Amino acid sequence: MKTRLETLCKKNVADCTYEELYRALLALVKEESGKRQEETKGRKLYYISAEFLIGKLLSNNLINLGMYEEVDKILKENGKSMAELEEAEPEPSLGNGGLGRLAACFLDSLATLNLPGDGVGLRYHCGLFHQNFKNNLQNETPDYWLNGAQWADDGKKTYSVSLAGKEYEAHLYQLDVTGYEGRTNKLNLFDLDTVDESIIEEGISFDKEDIAKNLTLFLYPDDSDEAGRKLRIYQQYFMVSAGAQMILEECVQRGCTLHDLADYAAIQINDTHPSMVIPELIRLLVEKGIAFEEAVKIVTKTCAYTNHTILAEALEKWPEEYLEEVVPQLMPVIRKLDKIVKKKTKDESVSIIDEDGRVHMANMDIHFTHSTNGVAALHTEILKDSELNNFYKMYPEKFNNKTNGITFRRWLLSCNHELAGFIESLIGGGFKKDAMELRKLAAFESDKEVLKRLMEIKADNKKKLAEWIQKKQGVSVNPDSMFSIQSKRLHEYKRQQLNLLYLIHQYFEIKEGHLPAAPVTAVFGAKAAPAYRIAKDIIHALLTLSEVIAEDAEVSKWIQVVFIENYNVTAAEKMIPACDLSEQISLASKEASGTGNMKFMLNGAVTLGTLDGANVEIRDCVGDENIYIFGQNSPQVIRRYERGDYCAREWYETDPNIRRAVDFIAGEQMMGKGDKKSLERLKNELVGKDWFQTFPDFSAYAVRKNQAVADYAVNPEKWAKMALKNISGAGFFSSDRTIEEYNKDIWHLG
Ligand SMILES: *Cc1c(COP(=O)(O)O)cnc(C)c1O
Repeated sequence: MKTRLETLCKKNVADCTYEELYRALLALVKEESGKRQEETKGRKLYYISAEFLIGKLLSNNLINLGMYEEVDKILKENGKSMAELEEAEPEPSLGNGGLGRLAACFLDSLATLNLPGDGVGLRYHCGLFHQNFKNNLQNETPDYWLNGAQWADDGKKTYSVSLAGKEYEAHLYQLDVTGYEGRTNKLNLFDLDTVDESIIEEGISFDKEDIAKNLTLFLYPDDSDEAGRKLRIYQQYFMVSAGAQMILEECVQRGCTLHDLADYAAIQINDTHPSMVIPELIRLLVEKGIAFEEAVKIVTKTCAYTNHTILAEALEKWPEEYLEEVVPQLMPVIRKLDKIVKKKTKDESVSIIDEDGRVHMANMDIHFTHSTNGVAALHTEILKDSELNNFYKMYPEKFNNKTNGITFRRWLLSCNHELAGFIESLIGGGFKKDAMELRKLAAFESDKEVLKRLMEIKADNKKKLAEWIQKKQGVSVNPDSMFSIQSKRLHEYKRQQLNLLYLIHQYFEIKEGHLPAAPVTAVFGAKAAPAYRIAKDIIHALLTLSEVIAEDAEVSKWIQVVFIENYNVTAAEKMIPACDLSEQISLASKEASGTGNMKFMLNGAVTLGTLDGANVEIRDCVGDENIYIFGQNSPQVIRRYERGDYCAREWYETDPNIRRAVDFIAGEQMMGKGDKKSLERLKNELVGKDWFQTFPDFSAYAVRKNQAVADYAVNPEKWAKMALKNISGAGFFSSDRTIEEYNKDIWHLG
C-alpha cells in the first residue's frame, strides 16, 4: 500500500502534504471499492431522499474496506496522523438532520448486508448553510463543500426533466457506498450544470426565480415566500423525475418489461419530499403504453413510504396552482388519483386534493404505496391511533413500524476507536457485524477493572473534545466536569429552551448557596432554520447566558455553557464519544424516533429523557435503573392538546422557580449583553404560548437532572456501570437490524 501511495503522490509519504495524501487515498479507495461492485439480481432498492447526511467518507471507507489499520500505521511511521489527514476532507453538505443521517446509515447497512440498494438524491452545491455566531446570533453563509477533490464521479449520463414547460438536463453524479466487509452500492446524485454560485448575494440570499442558476444551490431554500415554496417543488420534481427515468432505464436493461417493474425495483420514499415520484412513474409508464389502471397498480406495488413526523406543519401540502405552474404534466395524474380516492370513500380527511385546492403529499403516499411505516414503536402507534387513524382504518395491512437505527461502523468503530478496541478485547469482534453480541458486555458489570478502563476512555475522549473546542472556538472547558450534551436541530419541540430554563434555575440556586454535586459543562450543537425566528431566539438566549455565566466568578465554577458552531456529522463524531449525560428531552409524542439518542448510548452516555420516540425502546433495552426518565407521557400530552386548556401563564404565575427563570431571560443581566427584542420575544412566547409545554415538565426535569449529576459525582462506580449497561443494550439500535426488517417486511431484495 505504501508503494501504491508513493507512486500516486510521486514522492515519499513523509514528504507529502495532507492534501496530497488525501487525494492519493481517495484514488486508492475508489479503486478498491470499485472491485466490490456486484451485478444485481432480482429486486433492487432505490432509497429516494432529499437529504443524505453522509459525513466525511475517508476513514469510514478505509474501515469498511479493511484498509484502516494499514494506512494508520503507514501514516504514523512517517510522522503523520489520521486525525490531521481527516481535516483535509471537507464534509459533504447534503443533509440537515436526523432524516438525512438515517438515509446515510441505511446505505451503509445495505452494502454491509450485501443487499442491492442505491440512494437517489440531489447534489446541492452549497448544501445546508454554514452556521457561525456573531454578536451571539446565528449567521448563515454558503457552505462551499464542492471545492477540491470529490468522492462523486461524473456518471456520464443526463436525463431530460420538464419544469414549467422548459427542458432541463439532470446530470448524474455517482459515489461509491462501501459496506463493512460487504459489497459496494451507489449514491446517485442529480445536478444541473447551469447552476451558478455567483448569484448568491449577502448571506445565503439569491434570486429565487432564476431556476437555471439556482435549482441545486441549497438544500431547503427559504420557503417563507411563494417563490421559495415553488423552488422546493422545482427541486423535488427534478430529483424524482430524473430518478424515475434512471430506475426505469436500469430495470429495462436488466430485462424488465415494465409490467413486472415491482419484481425489479423497490422504491422507498423517505418522508414526503420525493412523493411526486408516484405520479411521475405513473405518467412515464402510461407514456410507454401501459394502461393507467395497471400503471397505478404497478407503482403502488413498487413504492413504500416512511413517515418521519406527526407535526402537522411538516406534512407538505402544495397549492394546486403551484403544481400546475411547475409540473403541469403531473396534475392530470394527481387529479385522477384524487378521483380514485374520492370514489373509494366520502371521508374528506383522506383526500389527496382538499376543498381548498391543496395537494396533500403524505395522503397520496399512503393511498398509492403498499407500505407506510413509522420510525419508532411509539411513533407508529400514534400514527395508527390518532394522526393517521382514518387511513389506518382503510388500510390496516399497510401500516408497520421500523424502529430507526444507526450504523455502528461510523458511530462506534470510526468515531471511538479506543472504546471499540476495548470492547473487542472483552467480547471479541463479532459485534461489528452482529450488534446483539454487545449483550456479552453485561457480564462485566461488576468488574471494577473494566469499569475503570471504561471511564478512562471516556475521560480521554472528554479531553480530546476540550482540545477541539479550544482550537476551534477558543473556549477552554474543564474536562473534569460532567459533560451534558444536547445536539440536534434546533426546534421548539426538542425543547432546548427547557435546558435553558434549567441552566438559569441552577444559576439562581448556586447564587443562593445550593451548590450542585459536580461542575457541569452544558454543550449544545444546533442549527436553526434561517426563517425560524423563535429557534434563533433560543440560540441567542443560550449564547448570551453563556457569557453572563462566564463572567460570574461564583457561578462559572459550577456551570459552563458551550455552543458548538456549525453542528454537523464531523462535530457529532467528536462530541458523542465525550458525553456523560445525553439530553433527549423532547415533548412526549413529538419526536418520531431520534437517532442521536442511540449514538450517545452506544458511546456510553446515560440518557436523560422523556418517554418519547425511541427513548421508550432505549428504556426497554437498558432497564429503568440505567436511564433518567422524567415528565409527562405521550397520552397525557395528547390529552392536554385535545382539551386545549394548557395555559402557560398560569404556570408562570404559580410556580416561583419558573417565573424566576423566565423573567431572567429578559432581565437586566441578559439584556445588558443580548438583543432586547429577541430576548423579549422569547420570554413572551414562553409565557403567552409555550406550545411545546416546557413548564409542566420543568420541575421534574430539574429534579431528575440534579439526581443524575449527584449520581455521577457521588457514585462513579454506579455511573460506570450504567454506562456499560447502555453500551451492552445498544445492539437493537444497529441500522443493520432496521434494514433486515425493512427487507423482510417491505423490500424482499435480491
Ligand atoms: C444523528 C444526527 C442528527 C439527529 O439527531 P436527533 O437527536 O435524533 O435529532 C442530527 N444531526 C447530526 C449531525 C447527526 O449526526
